[in-house]
Amino acid sequence: MKNCEYQQIDPHALPTPTPTPPPHHGSDGDKKEEPKRPRRKWEVFPGKNRFYCDGRIIVARQSGVLPLTLGLILVTSGLFFIFDCPFLVKHLTSCIPVIGGGLFVFVVITLLQTSFTDPGILPRATPDEAADIEKQIDNTGNTSYRPPPRTKEVLINQQVVKLKYCFTCKMFRPPRTSHCSLCDNCVERFDHHCPWVGNCVGKRNYRFFYTFIVSLSFLTAFIFGCVTTHLALRAQGGKGLVFALQESPGSAVELVICFFSVWSILGLSGFHTYLVASNLTTNEDIKGSWSGKSGEDVTNPYSHKNIFINCCTMLCGPMPPSLIDRRGFLPADESVQTAGPDIELPTLATKSEINVKGGTGRALLLTEHSINK
Ligand SMILES: [Zn+2]
Ligand SMILES: [Zn+2]
Repeated sequence: MKNCEYQQIDPHALPTPTPTPPPHHGSDGDKKEEPKRPRRKWEVFPGKNRFYCDGRIIVARQSGVLPLTLGLILVTSGLFFIFDCPFLVKHLTSCIPVIGGGLFVFVVITLLQTSFTDPGILPRATPDEAADIEKQIDNTGNTSYRPPPRTKEVLINQQVVKLKYCFTCKMFRPPRTSHCSLCDNCVERFDHHCPWVGNCVGKRNYRFFYTFIVSLSFLTAFIFGCVTTHLALRAQGGKGLVFALQESPGSAVELVICFFSVWSILGLSGFHTYLVASNLTTNEDIKGSWSGKSGEDVTNPYSHKNIFINCCTMLCGPMPPSLIDRRGFLPADESVQTAGPDIELPTLATKSEINVKGGTGRALLLTEHSINK
């Protein structure tokens, strides 16, 4: 058993090639002697993501449901401000549009942050790194212990955690990392791929996702309560609900949207509150990674056994840097940042022990160098 530490590599700290600005704008048709425009890393990014604003914004390729999510929020809130607020301000209090407006702005900002933030994508191994890992898989090994092929076992808080080899990214996935098939990336602390926000939810955008669903619960419940009050006030004096709906047709649309969405949004918020409090991911909860289904004595090694500390680490910890350096420049002669050779080698795994700072599993970029040195 060897002790080693995972180290997070900040791409900004690494020496990056300085781009040489082109003297002219070279046309693509011209093959000869025109110096090429320095290309940014997002332009050759191997995953299935889309980039906008010169790599500042990253979204999943299938982000088609995001406009629907945004549209539903905009339409429902718009109808609320047009049809309900004037009546409620007149008959109740002018605080209603202020609270509604504040919640609406918060919901939209957190939604866009969730959608456009790098969820914690791990860069794929370079050909050299991939070849090095292959060599180590071949060389290392303890003949008495043979776990299934292409896995490593590490000890985190006295709990054995299996690390699987990712054949796409050509590396052993760090603990809690999973490969999203839709985005084709390994994502750190992978929670799930959310089509509603059009992005993976992982280490770097989970806090935004959580605040988004919680604030959306408040907004939906708030609008639902206000619309019900509005219609009830209009229907007073024996006029009836039909009269009230005729007077304020927009409220009927809001009522339907809120009625059908509020339960699922509240349920989702409750579920994620449970996950946050126990420092679990949706992925681990669905797979039952720490539920001891197979009869083993397992507990979640990432939990601090304290709800408050778990919430703080999940939601208020320092924001880890993005590792894909999507706006960095490519070296002049390098064009592809993909994986290396596909070598079939015998499979032997090692048991390694790692020290995870504070047991949180944070700051993990697993490189074979750090494990087997
Ligand atoms: Zn992967
Ligand atoms: Zn994804």
